[in-house]
Amino acid sequence: GLTDTLVLNNGTEIPAIGLGVYKAEPGEEVYQAVRSALEIGYRHIDTASLYANEEDVGKAIKDSGISRNEIFVTTKVWNDEQGYENTKQAMANSLKRLQMDYVDLYLIHWPVPGKFTETWKALEELYRDGKAKAIGVSNFLPHHLEDMLKEAEIKPVVNQVELHPQLQQKETRDFCHAHDMLIEAWAPLGKAQYFDHPTLQELAKKHGKTPAQIIVRWQYQSKIITIPKSVHKNRQEENVDIFDFTLSQDDMDKIAEMDIGNRIGKHPDKFD
Ligand code: NAD
Repeated sequence: GLTDTLVLNNGTEIPAIGLGVYKAEPGEEVYQAVRSALEIGYRHIDTASLYANEEDVGKAIKDSGISRNEIFVTTKVWNDEQGYENTKQAMANSLKRLQMDYVDLYLIHWPVPGKFTETWKALEELYRDGKAKAIGVSNFLPHHLEDMLKEAEIKPVVNQVELHPQLQQKETRDFCHAHDMLIEAWAPLGKAQYFDHPTLQELAKKHGKTPAQIIVRWQYQSKIITIPKSVHKNRQEENVDIFDFTLSQDDMDKIAEMDIGNRIGKHPDKFD
C-alpha cells in the first residue's frame, strides 16, 4: 500500500509513492492538495525551494495532526542557492519555511556546472548535523555523478530524474543501480501528455484501470520511486489505487517498448 517503502543506501526508508507539488499554487491550492493527500494515506511529499510553496506544505503537514516522523518530506536546493555557504543558508531558509527541524531528503535540484561538488559538501555537512536524514541529487547524468563521486564522502541515496514510459533513462538507471542509488521519477505521468497511447489504452482496458494507474504500477513494480502530481483529491486517489492488480512480464515488456527518448523537460547538460 501507500506506506510501502524502499530502503535507501544509508538504511533509511522512503515511501515508494509520494505526492509531487510542482506548480501547486502557494496558499489554498497546495495546502488543500497536501491535506487531501495525507487524508488518502500519502506519507511522502516532494517539494522544492523553487516551488515557492514550502510554507503551505509545512502548514498542511502540521495541521494534519499526523506525527512528523510518519511523513517523508523532500525539498531541494535551487540553482541560484548553490555553493557551500549558500546551500547551508538555503537549507536553513527551507526548514524555516517548512517549520521543521529536519527534512527526510535534501536534493541538489540540477547539476550547476562548477558548483555541484561544493554544494554536495554542504549537503554532507547537513546530513551529519541531522538536518537532512538522507541526501541525494536530481537531474544528474552519469558524467555529473562520476565527477561528484571523486570528491564525495557520502554517496547520494537517489537521483530524481524525468522518467516515464517514453523516457525510461536506461543509462542513468544502470549507472545508479551499479552505485547503489535509487531512481526517483519526476513527471512520472509524462505530465499526462500521452494517456491516449495505444499501449497504455490496451493495458488500461485489460486491467480495468486508467493509463495513469498503469504507469504508476509500472514504476512501483520497477522499484522506481514515483511522485505523481495532482491537486485534485479524486486524481490523487486514482493515481495510488494500484495495489489490486499486477502487470505481467508481457505487460512490462510492452511498456519497455514505449521508450522513444521523449524528454518533456530540460536536458541536464542544457539548462539555465
Ligand atoms: P506529472 O507527470 O506528475 O503530471 C502532473 C500533471 O498530470 C498534473 O498537473 C495533472 O494535470 C495531470 N494529472 C495528474 N494525475 C492525473 C490523472 N489521474 N488523470 C489525468 N491527469 C492527471 O508531472 P510533474 O508534476 O511535472 O512531476 C511530478 C513531480 O515531480 C512534481 O510535482 C515535482 O514534485 C517533481 N518534479 C521534479 C523536477 C526536478 O527537476 N527534480 C522537475 C519537475 C517535477
